[in-house]
Amino acid sequence: MTAKQVGLTGNIGSGKTTAARLFETIGIPVYYADEHAKRFLNARDVIRKIKLTFGDDCIGKDGFPDKKILAQKVFSDKNRLQILNAMIHPLVGEDFIRWTGKHSHQAYVIMEAAILFETEHAKRFYKNILVKAPEKLRIRRVCERDGVSPEDVLKRMQHQMPETDMVPLADFVINNDGKEPLIPQIEKIHQLIADTIQ
Ligand code: ATP
Repeated sequence: MTAKQVGLTGNIGSGKTTAARLFETIGIPVYYADEHAKRFLNARDVIRKIKLTFGDDCIGKDGFPDKKILAQKVFSDKNRLQILNAMIHPLVGEDFIRWTGKHSHQAYVIMEAAILFETEHAKRFYKNILVKAPEKLRIRRVCERDGVSPEDVLKRMQHQMPETDMVPLADFVINNDGKEPLIPQIEKIHQLIADTIQ
């Protein structure tokens, strides 16, 4: 039997990775989509497309995309960001399917991704989980983690779907407000998902 695919998302600093690591501790394999997306940015075919679409200056002396210049170009223009995502997302989707195949003994596996409801993935997934946290707390966590200013975090947040729009699309919501403990919430969701699969 193929493992079911479950999505795990949340806004920047919500605690997606923290929640994903907790699922791993109870034995659920997690595919970290954003890490794989970074890897695919260096695929030969993607480099060629980036060069053609965004210009030679996006490619560094080493022949790989210059992430800083590329980020400046795509994060200042929504269309460009969509074009870049359209180059990368199908590759991540195919890779996730291959990766899921390696975990056929599991009831389900998780894809952790910053962008989920904006893509085709969420519709295909068996269940989707949202990690939410108050905006002020998300900003504080990212400032502390990355050593950046609140303005930088707000700029990055502009490109994400607002949390209030994600809530109705999620099957399960994890409240990571720093008061409600995460582990019982994760154990409960795990049990609910596992029960529907048995
Ligand atoms: P990004 O979208 O930037 O990758 P994320 O949603 O994956 O962020 P995390 O990296 O999991 O968020 O969490 C952001 C920061 O907040 C991390 O430094 C993490 O250790 C901290 N953090 C997350 N949840 C909690 C919590 N419940 N209590 C204390 N610190 C937390």
